[in-house]
Amino acid sequence: MTRTRKRFIAGAICPECKDEDSLMLYEEGGQEHVECVSCHYKMSERDAKANTKTPPTPQQEQLIGYFKP
Ligand SMILES: [Zn+2]
Repeated sequence: MTRTRKRFIAGAICPECKDEDSLMLYEEGGQEHVECVSCHYKMSERDAKANTKTPPTPQQEQLIGYFKP
């Protein structure tokens, strides 16, 4: 039995079916892959992270504050 660690990527949107929180990250052959549980679309971890809605970092917030009139 092959042990695979599977976890969902919070906030990630499937580029194929546009489902939210449906992307599952798993390890296979020492590499991380991402699969959509809704449409079984497969992509690399890098592609999935590009689709993740990332909250603004404190650095960006500081930048916005800096440009305040
Ligand atoms: Zn999908």
